[in-house]
Amino acid sequence: MSRSLLRCLAAAVTVAGALTVTPSAALAHGGPTPVVVDTARGHGNVVSFTFDDGPNPPDTLHLLAVLRKNHVKAVFCLVGDQVKAHPEVVRRIAAEGHTLCNHSLHHDNLSLLTPEQVTADLTETSTLIHQAVPWANIAYFRAPYGSWGQSPQIAADLGMQPLGWRFDIEDWVPPGADVLAQRIRDRLTPGAVILMHDGGGDRSQTVDAVAQVIPELRAQGWRLTLPLRRG
Ligand SMILES: [Zn+2]
Repeated sequence: MSRSLLRCLAAAVTVAGALTVTPSAALAHGGPTPVVVDTARGHGNVVSFTFDDGPNPPDTLHLLAVLRKNHVKAVFCLVGDQVKAHPEVVRRIAAEGHTLCNHSLHHDNLSLLTPEQVTADLTETSTLIHQAVPWANIAYFRAPYGSWGQSPQIAADLGMQPLGWRFDIEDWVPPGADVLAQRIRDRLTPGAVILMHDGGGDRSQTVDAVAQVIPELRAQGWRLTLPLRRG
């Protein structure tokens, strides 16, 4: 038996213990890997939108309305503290068919923590998400600041695919919605996972930029898909 298969089996057993998924079911789906994915599903002009640091009403609710109107599904990387504060918004995100991503409990730099501390952090965050949405599938994990440390393997063992990004739009200091929209146009490449923020401050400009850009991308033949599940 190969080492990678052994590792896979070990991960599947861990997933089975944590989420009551049988090892055979986990293996049948391949299971997550520790590879940090930054690529959208599909071929050609595909792109994935991902939003970090929420839930953060009212911006998250406005963003959900924009995505709903345009029939776009995105990934929301949720911070445990925010989930605790706004569980009803997490329920809305999941009910509208978006994909959930664990973005740690307090948005700490996980590379400074021990593996045991990272495991506890990710597990507690997922528990908070499941308290808000018991049926939620938490498909991805994204490390705050992209400071991965040992978290990709830990996330994979917990059943979550580590999710990176090709580019961000530097929306943490809002420069105006038009500037943000232009950054998306300028930086876009086929297959990109884009990092944006619906939390961590006033993100109304990000929401406006997304509303501006989606119809343009569609008109140019781009398809908005989810990120790859496996590396
Ligand atoms: Zn973040």
